[in-house]
Amino acid sequence: QRDDVIGRHIGMLLPAFEPHICADALKRHLMVEDQACTSVAREVTARRKDGSVVPMEFRVNAATIEGAPMLIGTIRDISERKDAEAKLREEAEHLQAVMNTVIDGLITIDSVGRIQTFNSSAVRIFGYQPEEVIGQNVRILMPDPYHSEHDSYMRNYMETGDKKVIGVGREVSARRKDGSIFPMELGVNEMTISGERMFVGTIRDITERKEAENAIASYVRKLKLSNAELDEFAYIASHDIKEPLRGLSSNATFLQEDYEEKLDAGGVKRLNRMRYLCERMERLVDDLLYYSRIGRQDLAVQPTDLNEVIRDIEDMSEATLRDANAVIVTPEPLPTITCDLPRITELFRNLISNGVKYNDKPTKVIEVGVTTTETLEEDAAPERVFYVKDNGVGIAPEFHDSVFRIFKRLNEEDDEVKGTGVGLTFVKKIVERHNGRIWLSSEQGRGSTFYFTLNAHAGAEND
Ligand code: ADP
Repeated sequence: QRDDVIGRHIGMLLPAFEPHICADALKRHLMVEDQACTSVAREVTARRKDGSVVPMEFRVNAATIEGAPMLIGTIRDISERKDAEAKLREEAEHLQAVMNTVIDGLITIDSVGRIQTFNSSAVRIFGYQPEEVIGQNVRILMPDPYHSEHDSYMRNYMETGDKKVIGVGREVSARRKDGSIFPMELGVNEMTISGERMFVGTIRDITERKEAENAIASYVRKLKLSNAELDEFAYIASHDIKEPLRGLSSNATFLQEDYEEKLDAGGVKRLNRMRYLCERMERLVDDLLYYSRIGRQDLAVQPTDLNEVIRDIEDMSEATLRDANAVIVTPEPLPTITCDLPRITELFRNLISNGVKYNDKPTKVIEVGVTTTETLEEDAAPERVFYVKDNGVGIAPEFHDSVFRIFKRLNEEDDEVKGTGVGLTFVKKIVERHNGRIWLSSEQGRGSTFYFTLNAHAGAEND
């Protein structure tokens, strides 16, 4: 109450105001010749009657009232403002902590390109301490030509709103404190803070990713080269092998023709066997040549009606199918796809003829159809899958991969029907040339199903 304080020293309310401070203020006032003067507002701690303290803004005016110098103090309770300030500080600290824990570098710049904030990751990425860069133009982080272009780029954006990086991420080069240049992924977004346009940049050092990408690209180049060399090698080697082989075969024939009466039955049999083996080797070499050709030649893709492909195969192998008591069924019409017609015909012909060849059932049924990876519960992106299914002898699981290997055969037939073990190798190569993959499922004794995808598109077949 008023009575509690009148006549007592101000120090009871404002502990900081010791008597000599008041005396000094009074003296200063008297020195400025009677004129009212106002001290600047200062923050002080005031004490309430109950002993609790509150922050106050305190201002002192000096005046001469009825001839006597007086000090007039005005005080204002600023505890609310103080609370709000503390809260703001807390929020700013919180924000700072978040900024400093994100893995990406975060940099904010103002509308003329001056760096305002620089988080811990930016420090780690660039090697600068915040105090070295804050207030500097952001172009110190850029190598040329960005370094010199950045100002005009920003000016142009501010004037025309023409965006080049804002809102879209892109890969750019950046410069560390030590001058080294590195690739980074940069995302820039605009924001307005207290009416001022600001830009926030997110930065990720992608040196490692770039190195990995380059390494992969270099492996791919080398692989392509060695693949091409292998195909080339197979081609040359096959050509060179064929010549002496022909010589061997014709010499065996001459020997038989010229010396038949001098040889006994055993000798003739051996010569026949020799000629057969020469023929067989020639077939193997031809297959090898053909294999290298599939790899070396460009595909000629065109829209192809697969129903016609199957009809052609049926027509061409009518006699074989009839003799083997085999039928080809297509549960649903097949689609028209973009592919290399002769190669795709060969692919289906190989799969169908295998389904007939490796089949011990009285009626051999070969089903050709189309399904999807989803229906097959394949753990792959949704894709169309073709299949050729037979009710033949089946393939043991341990051979599901190796059947596709060149010259790999599982059955021992007599010489008359003996294949060369290349059919599935061709099939696989044709599928791969069409950017597809092939696999199989089989139940021994019940049959096999070969599944494959084809993704050739005009213009993309030559890779
Ligand atoms: P080839 O038929 O000339 O022997 P392939 O490469 O076409 O060569 O087939 C390799 C081997 O895989 C065959 O020898 C055969 O044992 C097995 N095979 C291929 N297709 C089937 C099938 N549909 N059912 C059972 N076995 C098969």
